[in-house]
Amino acid sequence: MAFTKFGLSPTVLEGVKAMGYVDPTPIQLRAIPLIMEGRDVIGSAQTGTGKTAAFALPILSKLDQHQPQTRLLVLEPTRELAAQVETAIRDFARFTNLRVAVIFGGVGYGKQNDALRTGVDVLVATPGRLLDHLQQGNCKLDRVQHVVLDEADRMLDMGFLPDVRRILESCPRQRQTSLFSATIPPAIETLIQWAMSNPETVEIGARRTPAETVKHVIYPVSDTQKTDLLVALLERVNYDSVIIFCRTKHGADRVAQMLKRNNHSVAVLHSNRTQSEREQALLGFREGRFEVLVATDIAARGLDIADVSHVINYDVPHHPEDYIHRIGRTGRAEASGDAFTLMIAEDSNHVFAIERFINQKITRVKLENFEYRYTALFEQDKPGAKSGYTGSARAVRVHGGYHFAPGRRRK
Ligand code: AMP
Repeated sequence: MAFTKFGLSPTVLEGVKAMGYVDPTPIQLRAIPLIMEGRDVIGSAQTGTGKTAAFALPILSKLDQHQPQTRLLVLEPTRELAAQVETAIRDFARFTNLRVAVIFGGVGYGKQNDALRTGVDVLVATPGRLLDHLQQGNCKLDRVQHVVLDEADRMLDMGFLPDVRRILESCPRQRQTSLFSATIPPAIETLIQWAMSNPETVEIGARRTPAETVKHVIYPVSDTQKTDLLVALLERVNYDSVIIFCRTKHGADRVAQMLKRNNHSVAVLHSNRTQSEREQALLGFREGRFEVLVATDIAARGLDIADVSHVINYDVPHHPEDYIHRIGRTGRAEASGDAFTLMIAEDSNHVFAIERFINQKITRVKLENFEYRYTALFEQDKPGAKSGYTGSARAVRVHGGYHFAPGRRRK
């Protein structure tokens, strides 16, 4: 089924064509007709599924012509996502006369006030700054007809739900509400009951298996050698671009500083950085000025950064789905990619949780000619040793020691 069957407006269809989309993705196939019908929709889908177009195309079609008041409000958990979604909406709406603005914290109010004063049809915003604008009387939401709560579970994680509620209280009750969330924890369930009316759920199974084009392995290492191993890996591996994921902002800063001292060109992406630092980091990485991007999950969540040659998990993610999400940044579109995870003893349970989630044992490897200090982790894969993984026989087991990482050219 092509996009022409949905009854989208001709100008929006033109935008879709200009984007080069040919076939709708599964979430678009299921959500667009429901939103066109006027239903409230819960999309339990992750980023990368095409969910932005799934809500934007039907809603922009309904908005049709410019009016000087905000009729579509999209809430996003992070500034980067807000900027990315605003760009996508502008692209879809480029043949319409609809006006789009984005509002987020960490930057001045001037430009945002100017945009709000001109009267925008579509407002994409992070909750905190939008509330500030509302309280200062810079914008009104009393003519809003469509609300999209994007990445609702992340908004919950970041403590935004009270702000979201206050914003929704400023919108008319009579409206169409869509909510997207990879998971639906109880707090989101409560929000759904409070904010939505007879919603229809569209579930697009979260990817639980890594792409076959990604070779992913674990490097067990003692706590004290983690940074040495990271430096050695970067020296040995012939990478074009690499994202290094850290668990905390502080950790990301430390790793970035250490890599800079080792003469790597490094950008850092986490939520304590100023807006312009974050934009520069992303732009520089996309344009190839930085070969290494050190990021936290929250900052990188949902961002369309693909086609990196390597992902390194400096820290093991605590949510198994983040593992899939992180390593999915490489190995896209038939290109192959490598994902390395550094594992210290205290990570064992998190690694086992990931292996259960993806129903695979992840191969443990050692870097050749690296002077390892002993860690009990090296015992885990010896025959007869207890393993946390109890999955199917299809799992790749490493018996009697370690596979060595595939030989790579030195840079
Ligand atoms: P999203 O999940 O909305 O962040 O979209 C992920 C990526 O898929 C973006 O780069 C979109 O431009 C792209 N995309 C969305 N829908 C389609 C489609 N129907 N065909 C091709 N690419 C798409």
